[in-house]
Amino acid sequence: MKEVVIASKNSGKITEIAAALAHLPVKVVSLADFGEVAEAVEDGSTFAENALIKAKYYSNFTGKACLADDSGLEVDALNGAPGVYSARYAGENASDSENNKKLLENLKDEDCRTARFRCSLVFYDINGEVLSTDGVCEGVLLNEPRGNGGFGYDPLFLIPNLDKTLAEISINEKNAISHRGAALRSMAEKMAVYLK
Ligand code: IMP
Repeated sequence: MKEVVIASKNSGKITEIAAALAHLPVKVVSLADFGEVAEAVEDGSTFAENALIKAKYYSNFTGKACLADDSGLEVDALNGAPGVYSARYAGENASDSENNKKLLENLKDEDCRTARFRCSLVFYDINGEVLSTDGVCEGVLLNEPRGNGGFGYDPLFLIPNLDKTLAEISINEKNAISHRGAALRSMAEKMAVYLK
């Protein structure tokens, strides 16, 4: 069976991706199985560019097909920031709570609270074939965190028609509406056609 390396060492992400690809004729492998791997330099200016950089880099490194994702938050009142800098908004190695704190400070006097999560996925095969998909999740940023689930900016991100943040719903509910869930479902469809 074709092996596909997931360009992540985050076991939560790998489990989620493996579940979405479970019906395909592929064996999902983690980057953690390859020991010490120097990290790809994510210097793209979009999520799609960074996902391609990672998929290509780790495919070349492992000699196998690779699936990479890149995601983050785009805030309208901040002209799309933090965007590709979402993980390090409050500085290199910033914690989720430090990033959330900085976001709230920068939105202190803002009435416009609309924002969206975006996720880009890229599958890169050793023959150079590239499959790309994207997903979006629209929401509104609160003035203070709500809920204990999820990660990152989830406690601040309200889904208006649920009147709940992404940190107040189950993983399954989140996957059904999230940017990553949408990108993964589209990717599974494209991979099914490609692998036929
Ligand atoms: P990466 O794609 O794993 O590098 O994620 C980039 C950053 O975007 C994360 O560190 C989070 O700050 C943020 N992010 C991406 N997806 C989500 C999500 O589903 N919920 C909350 N924050 C997210």
